[in-house]
Amino acid sequence: MRGVTATDTHCPYCALQCGMTLTPEIPRVRLEPRDFPVNRGGLCAKGFTAADLLDHRDRLLHPLVRKVPGDRTSPFREATWDEALSQTEEQIRTAQERHGRNSVGVFGGGGLTNEKAYALGKFARVTLKSASIDYNGRFCMSSAATAANRTLGVDRGLPFPLEDVAHAKTVLLVGANPADAMPPSMQYLDTGRENGARHIVIDPRRTNTAAGAHLHLQPLPGTDLALANGLLHIAIREGHIDEAYIRDRTTGFDAVKNATNSYWPDRVERMTGVPENRLRETVRLLATQGPAMILTARGAEQHSNGTDTAQAYLNLALALGLVGRPFSGYGTITGQGNGQGGREHGQKADQLPGYRKLDDPEARKHVAKVWGIDPDELPGPGQSAYEMLDQLGGKVRVLMVLASNIAVSAPNSNRILEKLKSLDFLVVSDIFASETAELADVVLPTAQWAEEEGTMTNLEGRVIRRKRALAPPPEVRTDLEMLADLSRRLGRAESSDPRTVFEELRRASAGGIADYAGITYERIEKENGVFWPCPAEDHPGTPRLFADNFPTKDGRAAMRAVIHRDPAEMPDRTFPYVLTTGRNMQQYQSGNQTRRVKALNVALPEPRAEIHPDLARRHGINDGDLVELRSRRGVAVLRARLSDGIRPDTVFAPFHWPGANALTNPALDPHSRMPAFKACAVAISRHERG
Ligand code: SF4
Repeated sequence: MRGVTATDTHCPYCALQCGMTLTPEIPRVRLEPRDFPVNRGGLCAKGFTAADLLDHRDRLLHPLVRKVPGDRTSPFREATWDEALSQTEEQIRTAQERHGRNSVGVFGGGGLTNEKAYALGKFARVTLKSASIDYNGRFCMSSAATAANRTLGVDRGLPFPLEDVAHAKTVLLVGANPADAMPPSMQYLDTGRENGARHIVIDPRRTNTAAGAHLHLQPLPGTDLALANGLLHIAIREGHIDEAYIRDRTTGFDAVKNATNSYWPDRVERMTGVPENRLRETVRLLATQGPAMILTARGAEQHSNGTDTAQAYLNLALALGLVGRPFSGYGTITGQGNGQGGREHGQKADQLPGYRKLDDPEARKHVAKVWGIDPDELPGPGQSAYEMLDQLGGKVRVLMVLASNIAVSAPNSNRILEKLKSLDFLVVSDIFASETAELADVVLPTAQWAEEEGTMTNLEGRVIRRKRALAPPPEVRTDLEMLADLSRRLGRAESSDPRTVFEELRRASAGGIADYAGITYERIEKENGVFWPCPAEDHPGTPRLFADNFPTKDGRAAMRAVIHRDPAEMPDRTFPYVLTTGRNMQQYQSGNQTRRVKALNVALPEPRAEIHPDLARRHGINDGDLVELRSRRGVAVLRARLSDGIRPDTVFAPFHWPGANALTNPALDPHSRMPAFKACAVAISRHERG
């Protein structure tokens, strides 16, 4: 044990950021749930076992370099930090001299603290002077974020505290499964239900969330937009829309109305597979029970039309007059631990801190001043995540990866594996040797959540503090320390102190959409977190947005007409079924952490492909057999779990293990550059060893 003191902090995993306390106890750290507004004393199995990561035997404890530099088939050997960073510095200099500034890329993650996300964006744009930076949140939240920004003028996942969910009388969850993804959040839905609320779930699978809902609609994956337009069509025809709200608080409704004209319920039933009477019941519940909420998540958003799909649900919420009213509204449920803060502070290809746009001259001027450089020195927007990965070995020759396991989590992962291998130099910072780290030239051991200070911004836009409870192992550094050392070697002085970085972040974000200027470490501590925007230290923060107006040019929400487009890949004779991917309760993201936790693996030792019994019978597959899933891009072999809770034309595979993303389609949403994770065409057969 390494100098443990009792410390209140938060879970290392998802965006709920449950409160927990770490206490000294020999021989291990004792982890207990803590009463915090989002979890009220609850934790899920992942949170309860998070301390297993701290002294795990797989922990990276020294920098690693290749025995034969430049040969990634040669084994790793332990190295000093000086040696590992010297190699990195040399490769960065060489690549930039030969191939230009943008030939060095940086790939970040939605699990980084705000300080690290900010420092990483600054490192790429100021130290490296490279436009090549993006992060794994592009694969996670970007569709809903794009739709919210263009419609509401701001993207804050939930524009209200989570506890408001308990007071809504109807909650429509679209492609969201909080019962598995963030179980403690279910207490708010449960409280609402005990008080008579009705819940509707739209999901091709009967998830644990859907099983407890009043209504479950099971559309074909990729038809969520058609479904939303169908609901709005019914709401208009049956007189449920709020005309005064539409007139006073929105623009664009006439075009939206015209666009939904042809979404007759019987047509929508044919397009989606959802019976007409369920569509009408959904509208009735949304419009007549009292306060209502529409919450989307990745099931609706990770499509090649993901932005327009989120837009369609926003249009519905606005037409019903829900947004900005008490215990009502539209929100998107953020997934990654700092998925919200991670997209606000500049690690996104097109953004600067404060959620400013990189191509906005005023934004460039403001941030450049804080950074002490000329605005013209700032590179312009770079390529989105998949597009940048697709250039590895070509325009991008050196890649630094932090808090991301792209070998498992990127779509079309076989291609990405080849791209990673084609790099001149790959550096990975992680706590364990992920599948991506195994391909690297240099692996840097980084500190864990309980070993460093920083802030996170949870799914509600509440900025909270992660506190250091114990020192990292001797040869392990924080990412801020690593970035500061590498910056120094490349000629620029940067701080490695989280508090100093946060103070600079506050100044850089001041006046932006995500304004943190009034948020201090002390306030966060005293007030159980502070909601942005918070422009001054005497400002109370903003738990609820949109009560009076929207932060758009005219103060109104800008509705936009959207129409259904088929998924980029449709089933055909060769690949007759639809694959959709998602989460299991016991695992998190690419599984690099949770797959190493014994208790979680006992509960779920391997991925299971969920298949309807009718589909299984057609292919001679029994429960527990190995099945082979094939798409145009790859093959995955998983054990079958038969379930009549999934559509007979759809197969589900979890993405926490290598495999599922060998199949997925990297077709990108034109607005957000989100890949089509949630719908691609596959064939299925019993694996011969099954
Ligand atoms: Fe951690 Fe999320 Fe589970 Fe809470 S719900 S304990 S934040 S993984």
